Amino acid sequence: VKNDRESMLIVNSFAQKYFSSMLHEHMEGKSIGLRYFVERGFREDIIRKFQLGYSLEQRDALYQEATRSGYRKEFLEKTGLIITYDNGGVADRFRGRVIFPVHTLSGKVVAFGGRILKKDEKTAKYVNSPESEIYHKSNELYGIYFAKQAIVKADRCFLVEGYTDVVSMHQAGIENVVASSGTALTPGQIRLIHRFTNNITVLYDGDAAGIKAALRGIDLLLEEGMNIKVVLLPDGEDPDSFARKQNASQFTEFIQRNETDFIRFKTQLLLDDAAGDPIKRSNLISDIVRSVAIIPNEIARSVYIRECSSMLEIDERVLLNEIVKIVRAKN
Ligand code: ATP
Ligand code: MN
Ligand code: MN
Ligand code: MN
Repeated sequence: VKNDRESMLIVNSFAQKYFSSMLHEHMEGKSIGLRYFVERGFREDIIRKFQLGYSLEQRDALYQEATRSGYRKEFLEKTGLIITYDNGGVADRFRGRVIFPVHTLSGKVVAFGGRILKKDEKTAKYVNSPESEIYHKSNELYGIYFAKQAIVKADRCFLVEGYTDVVSMHQAGIENVVASSGTALTPGQIRLIHRFTNNITVLYDGDAAGIKAALRGIDLLLEEGMNIKVVLLPDGEDPDSFARKQNASQFTEFIQRNETDFIRFKTQLLLDDAAGDPIKRSNLISDIVRSVAIIPNEIARSVYIRECSSMLEIDERVLLNEIVKIVRAKN
């Protein structure tokens, strides 16, 4: 219902301001939340820009304040800001966490991510708003509202995994960056980026999971006809931790030096992994062939066929035959 959506957005806007005021004005928020961000190296202006916040530890602090201010429980529930239990009890979803509001392209807050402050194996590091009438996770990208102009200007979008990666890169002066928030890219998210540019550079965490994620989501980008580059960060680093160890120009330089074309990256990675194993080798060839076959532009495809044939030490005609088979089967 249209009215519901409007009310949910209003409640979220209230919650965003409430969380921010807790971070900047409340004793607990300042000594725990703000301190956490400052210790992470986030600057005051960046904290304000991204409208970061803090949710008090008290079980239902937001619920109480929202109710006092006249907001209806129904919409606090629908946005997922509160959780109502069978026994009638109510709890704030994000209590005791620092808050990252998630903005739409037009700047409306449709969701929140909350991070715990202390290391704790029992609780999830991040809690996110549930899907709702106003929040379809697969159609949103964290940071897009703050990045869109810079994406157009640079004609390139950096894609990272997490909230803090987006914030830290902004702080380092790299503003054309969005996060997929830990999950594989969806077609809706890709289309969102494609409205602004054809060029994506994927900057995933330099660990095994990051590499896997980079390989998984990206065939979808090829299918959309986008030009994709990959930068692998040093093992154990993510863009946030890495940005903090470098100044902005060192970071930019690292990206420029380590940017690899996606197909080339994937081919090399699989080659290293196959290292002389003939079964793995033949699987990898089919894998690469499939990736090349989904590239819509024929000229781009033929460039890749040449490149891969030399990397894989396989006759161009053999690769071409395989690719033509796949392309024909699809049309
Ligand atoms: P930090 O630097 O604060 O540890 P991060 O962004 O580096 O955060 P990662 O573990 O790299 O955290 O995860 C990347 C992203 O995946 C997060 O920013 C978040 O959006 C999402 N994520 C991580 N853990 C969870 C979780 N337990 N539940 C839901 N989403 C999560
Ligand atoms: Mn295009
Ligand atoms: Mn991190
Ligand atoms: Mn990370």
